[in-house]
Amino acid sequence: MGPTESYDDSIAGVKEYYHFALYSQDNQGAEIIGKFAGMSQEMGRNLPLEERYNPYLKDPDFKPARNMAAVNMIAGGGDSRTYAAAGWTLPNEPEIAAKHGTKMLLIRNVIATRGSDAMRFVQRRLFGEAYDPDIFYWMVAGHELSHGMLPFTKGYDPKGQPLSQILGDLDLPVEEKKADLLGLMAVEEFAKKGEISWDSYWAIARMYVGAETVFRLYRNPNEAHAKYSVAVHNLLKEKHAVSFDGATGRMQVHSNFPQAIREILSIFLKIQAEGDRGAAERLLSEHNAPAPEITAAIEALKKAGLSSQTHYNPIISQ
Ligand SMILES: [Zn+2]
Repeated sequence: MGPTESYDDSIAGVKEYYHFALYSQDNQGAEIIGKFAGMSQEMGRNLPLEERYNPYLKDPDFKPARNMAAVNMIAGGGDSRTYAAAGWTLPNEPEIAAKHGTKMLLIRNVIATRGSDAMRFVQRRLFGEAYDPDIFYWMVAGHELSHGMLPFTKGYDPKGQPLSQILGDLDLPVEEKKADLLGLMAVEEFAKKGEISWDSYWAIARMYVGAETVFRLYRNPNEAHAKYSVAVHNLLKEKHAVSFDGATGRMQVHSNFPQAIREILSIFLKIQAEGDRGAAERLLSEHNAPAPEITAAIEALKKAGLSSQTHYNPIISQ
């Protein structure tokens, strides 16, 4: 309960709102979290990051304070009528998180209802497939868990200064995109270990490229989660990991997608490890011209008048 983020402010995107939520424990969701946690040490050692920067290799005891739980939202209320978070990692303030660690909540039934009409529309348009909330849950879980697996508040004090001071307004955008990419790498590891099918992996990849990327840009291109979406889309295209066929109007994800994700992830990890504001700026300035298929999908969304808000109506009984 308390003041929360500013997504609800569709005018200036700055006003926070007061909100309360009541959650119950979710055992099935907890199982997925447990799998991620069991894999994170091995994945950490294999990060696409130079050894001298990798906290999992530098310090064999590196275990970021990870305190995670999966819950279902039973009831909510307050100022916000339209927005319920799909996950929380708190506290946000890097200094407090460094001191006390963080706690992460994944709110599974909210994630399951996250598929707005806009997301369905984009997934149908770009891939000719239905939106699958289970696939969305894996993608969101990967993202949220990645914040905890390699927290940007731990193991990094480039130039003896907090990363947030060095990267400034690009600090959160870099962190959010890193979490997307690391999350995709995590679900690839799951597929390798047979925890999920490769079909699911490729469905997650398509949802990232389609609904997730376009929806975030449609909602607010300057918001932290969307700031690097165009750059990453362009890099994936440059690496021929995704392509767009003008004749069919469809996108395709290719077999080198996992490798491309690792390569692009390495750029973000290096920016954080070195505290390289210049590199973070160049990544935007050199790759930030929206691809025609992205612009067209956003125009089509606007024309269809589909809301960029995600709606969630809390169910008071189970
Ligand atoms: Zn995030």
